Amino acid sequence: MQLEFTHLPEVTPVFSQFALHERILKAVAELKFVEPTPVQAAAIPLALQGRDLRVTAQTGSGKTAAFVLPMLNRLADLGGPRVEIRALILLPTRELAQQTLKQVELFSQFTYIKSGLVTGGEDFKEQAAMLRKVPDVLIGTPGRLLEQLNAGNLDLSHVQVLVLDEADRMLDMGFAEDMERLCKECENREQTLLFSATTGGAALRDIIGKILKDPEHLMLNSVSQLAEGTRQQIIMADHDQHKEKIIHWLLDNETFQKAIIFTNTRVAADRVYGHLVAKDIKAFVLHGDKDQKDRKLAIERFKQGGSKVLVATDVAARGLDIDGLDLVINFDMPRSGDEYVHRIGRTGRAGGEGLAISLITHNDWNLMSSIERYLKQQFQRRLIKEVKGTYNGPKKVKASGKAVGVKKKKVDKKTGEKKAAAKRKPTAKPRPNAPLASVDGMAPLKKRAPKPE
Ligand code: AMP
Repeated sequence: MQLEFTHLPEVTPVFSQFALHERILKAVAELKFVEPTPVQAAAIPLALQGRDLRVTAQTGSGKTAAFVLPMLNRLADLGGPRVEIRALILLPTRELAQQTLKQVELFSQFTYIKSGLVTGGEDFKEQAAMLRKVPDVLIGTPGRLLEQLNAGNLDLSHVQVLVLDEADRMLDMGFAEDMERLCKECENREQTLLFSATTGGAALRDIIGKILKDPEHLMLNSVSQLAEGTRQQIIMADHDQHKEKIIHWLLDNETFQKAIIFTNTRVAADRVYGHLVAKDIKAFVLHGDKDQKDRKLAIERFKQGGSKVLVATDVAARGLDIDGLDLVINFDMPRSGDEYVHRIGRTGRAGGEGLAISLITHNDWNLMSSIERYLKQQFQRRLIKEVKGTYNGPKKVKASGKAVGVKKKKVDKKTGEKKAAAKRKPTAKPRPNAPLASVDGMAPLKKRAPKPE
């Protein structure tokens, strides 16, 4: 497979220069999109030519319109009665699916194109009934789409355009086989568009080799550029309770419209949320243990400003497009550089300013410094007098930025002398907080595909 790396074209001044159907241009104008973003300027003309594309673009860069507009254009040109699903958008999470559906509906509002959604957490029979009416565009997450397929409710053999959005994330979530199976079901497709926020690893290359035909690769951002729109800071913390104190201070003293606090686990999300509630700070919590209704409600109310603070696991890190989100706090350091980029990609969207603050205990240090190296950036060290702890970072760091392991010396009770600590026997179990592998080279740090939180 030959991959071409294309330089960015000059940004096309206005949307009307694209060879888009007038009804679609009307919707674009209605949404007050005038100038295409760089990813739109690069991807739309090639997609309109029918090329397969692999696009690496930052979340928040306008990538949804970059695939939705050419996809709708193909369908708008067809005319005739609707009898088949003609476009499929595969993506990793329900939230992203709902948001994408909204965009598709807005862009197709002056056409006869109808869209439908198939994700987990929604009524299976209602979905089957929707599928019997045959939408033109189907948007869904792999697991539930396969269930509908296996139940005989879904025919994808007439799909002309297949889009995989956030393909890297779907792979991280363990959907590789489901994705392949669904791609095979769309065997008569004419075009495949694959979007990822990161360049991904071997698994992404493997699926690209299998499903894209002679693709053009549009590299819109290098990974170090991905985080550029956002100021990035770290604050040292002694332990989790200290982190909660810092968060409390930040929420009281920072100027922000909306903030997300990310944790690595559901338990930590609930604990931080509980702490905020106890301090009379109104917040919502979002993680995989919440049922779909609660998740929807939390997002909607957060969007509408029912609360300025959302505590979330990474399920919320992808795709959520929330106006005015300008503060991201990493209660836990994400386990990989890519995840970090996705989290902070929630701020500073569509040109806005953002601030990302990571709270760093000695357990987080090496992970943080690996992420700095990955991004080729140094995060600003910030000290807050009012909530200052005792940890100030490692005493010594290696050239790599990692802490030099300082062995503690025990005091001999009899002589009062310090002696070297006895070597610990290697144990079969890994330490609970130890990263499973280095982030160098950005292999994902998880051994197994993580369960969606
Ligand atoms: P996305 O990366 O697709 O999630 O888009 C991020 C945000 O940018 C969304 O709120 C879009 O509505 C907005 N957006 C995308 N393209 C444009 C554009 N060309 N002009 C203005 N806003 C845009």
